[in-house]
Amino acid sequence: MKKPNLTGMTLEQMEQLFESIGQPKYRAAQLFNWIYKKRIAKLDDMTNFSKQLRQQLSESATIGLVRLAKQVSASDNQTTKFLFTLEDNLHVESVFMIEAKRKTVCLSTQVGCPLGCSFCATGKMGFQRNLTAGEIVDQLLSIQHILNVDVTNVVIMGMGEPFLNYDEVIKACDLISHDTGIAIGKRKITISTSGIIPGIRRFADEGQRYKLAISLNAADDQIRDDMMPINKKYPLNELINAAKYYAAKSRHRLTFEYVMIRGVNDSTRDSQKLARLLKGLKCKLNIIPYNSIDEKNTIPSEDQIDDFIRPFLNMNVVVSVRRSKGSDIQAACGQLYYDYHEPKS
Ligand code: SAH
Ligand code: SF4
Repeated sequence: MKKPNLTGMTLEQMEQLFESIGQPKYRAAQLFNWIYKKRIAKLDDMTNFSKQLRQQLSESATIGLVRLAKQVSASDNQTTKFLFTLEDNLHVESVFMIEAKRKTVCLSTQVGCPLGCSFCATGKMGFQRNLTAGEIVDQLLSIQHILNVDVTNVVIMGMGEPFLNYDEVIKACDLISHDTGIAIGKRKITISTSGIIPGIRRFADEGQRYKLAISLNAADDQIRDDMMPINKKYPLNELINAAKYYAAKSRHRLTFEYVMIRGVNDSTRDSQKLARLLKGLKCKLNIIPYNSIDEKNTIPSEDQIDDFIRPFLNMNVVVSVRRSKGSDIQAACGQLYYDYHEPKS
């Protein structure tokens, strides 16, 4: 039988493990601390466990779920991308970004993504499988270990759709925010969804305190259908209703992301439609200039972006524009993987 992996285990699961090998339960808190706070790479590093106990533990469990395959830093050294190999030899990627005092990691939740958005590199690779909570958390632990940094913020915006892997994603976030482990505050963790309505409603009903972002990307069903096929199942008016439901239940502003692509969704008409759609909804709007995944020049100009955000300036909408980060290392979702598997000759 395959040994259980300690990375990804909750405190309660560790307590059960100690009970099953005839050890006192209090050991679990120490183990939890070693794995998540002290970020050990091997069981032998647990110096307050006797040699005998370490031996017993390594006979009944293993540690670590992802292995580094490739690491690339942008020329300004503020962004680093990681490609990790999983136990079944599939790959996922994660990104580390520094911005002022903020050290953010972007984590993947699935290998590939079943939703096939037209502008997204991950969407082009199809879907392989969901990640476990341990595999999600281990991306973060590995980056902290490799770079020897303390991450301050987490965005669940890498490969995959988090709300199609709801339980494991929430379990991972609960581990990341647990105050005796990695201890990153819940409001420093953002989950981004393409608009899976049952997930948004469940998230609202459960009173989850993680930040929520919804990738809107278009204010018109026809354009959104073309960009994000999931819009046919969960169209805009129902999605906005779910967002309003969340906004009514949570005290917090939710964020709408809008990947702006020249000639697709960047006109004044698009921005007016978007303003109408968001009317009365206390929210943030995050404009993300498109990170080209093909050769076409589809990145909007600064002037276009300025024109686009004008209608929101006198609304209850906080607008931010994400200036391109790491574009020289293709740091948009799924791009490193794409490059790795289909090297350009
Ligand atoms: N599946 C989730 C989370 C992963 S995608 C979602 O769709 O929200 C995270 C964000 O990256 C989304 O807002 C998505 O619209 C954006 N994105 C994907 N491809 C991009 C690209 N080529 N350039 C800029 N942003 C991109
Ligand atoms: Fe999947 Fe998000 Fe990419 Fe769409 S944008 S294909 S939902 S990862």
